[in-house]
Amino acid sequence: MKKSALVTGVSGQDGAYLSRLLLEKGYTVYGLLQRSTRYAFANLDYLGVTADVDFVDGDLTDEASLINAVCRTRPDEIYNLAAQSFVGTSWDQPILTTEINAVGTMKLLEAAKRHAPQAKFYQASTSEMFGNCHQDGLQTEETPFHPRSPYAISKLCAYWIVNNYRESYGMFCVNGILFNHESPIRGKEFVTRKISHNVAKIKLGLSERFGLGNLDSTRDWGFAGDYVEAMFLIMHQDVPENFIVSTGETHSIRDFLTVAFNHVGIPDWEKHVYVDPAFKRPAELFSLKGSSRKAQEKLKWTPKVKFEELVRMMVDADLERLRNTNKVNR
Ligand code: GDP
Repeated sequence: MKKSALVTGVSGQDGAYLSRLLLEKGYTVYGLLQRSTRYAFANLDYLGVTADVDFVDGDLTDEASLINAVCRTRPDEIYNLAAQSFVGTSWDQPILTTEINAVGTMKLLEAAKRHAPQAKFYQASTSEMFGNCHQDGLQTEETPFHPRSPYAISKLCAYWIVNNYRESYGMFCVNGILFNHESPIRGKEFVTRKISHNVAKIKLGLSERFGLGNLDSTRDWGFAGDYVEAMFLIMHQDVPENFIVSTGETHSIRDFLTVAFNHVGIPDWEKHVYVDPAFKRPAELFSLKGSSRKAQEKLKWTPKVKFEELVRMMVDADLERLRNTNKVNR
């Protein structure tokens, strides 16, 4: 029988890539969609899957809508990808961030427990939960957590809620602890897409300079398309367990700038980037580098797209988009 999945956050980067993957695997994909005046389908359109997703109205802050969604769809699998996902905003909207990311996860789990207790549940956990903790420069599943933003705190709360539903009720509930993962449809508020978009603008003569915050922090950046495959594999283990998903490589914002500008033939990126303190954060994570050894051993998962390839892919996609877009939408 055809399997079904309910995906929250379906209109986001990961929601779009995961929907495409699940559709390719023959799933019926139900996408939970917030009512919004803004056009929500750009990411799904980009991957060509909008018409194949069944949309269900709902919002993680509205328990009744979650109960309706679970009862209506009776999914085999639930992927909870919806979140206030931008760290920077979480200092300005800490309560909303917690309502959505932590309490919202519990509301969805309650709906699942009562109305679809056999459904497997995937939670989008994050490397932000580690803060600056590491063991010999690496984060593993055993590294202690020390969240350093309202976002990270809300996500750590959700992480424990998910573990607790597994332990208390025997539900198949798992956390994928994903390190930063990017793509041409990453939101422009994130540093990688901000860079690729601005580099493309500069290359096309549409702009000359742009501002960034801390250039020295390093991140373990992978490709979102690879990471949704790991999500699927985590959900298809015999035993529900948490997994880190990462590349094991780390690069600074400066490295990202170097590769991006070099790719368009501009070697001296310093001329085009200034430091704007507005983009610095009250508390920073200096270095993230995850060990995905467990995922490699148990899931047989390895990331395919390497750092340089990812940067180039994002810059090329932005160049193409800008060339095809009229000036008003740039
Ligand atoms: P995060 O790891 O989830 O917070 O992903 P981001 O892409 O938002 O940020 C990654 C790193 O880039 C953080 O250390 C930020 O402080 C740093 N960064 C430096 N300048 C900027 C900027 O202008 N925007 C963003 N979003 N991050 C920046």
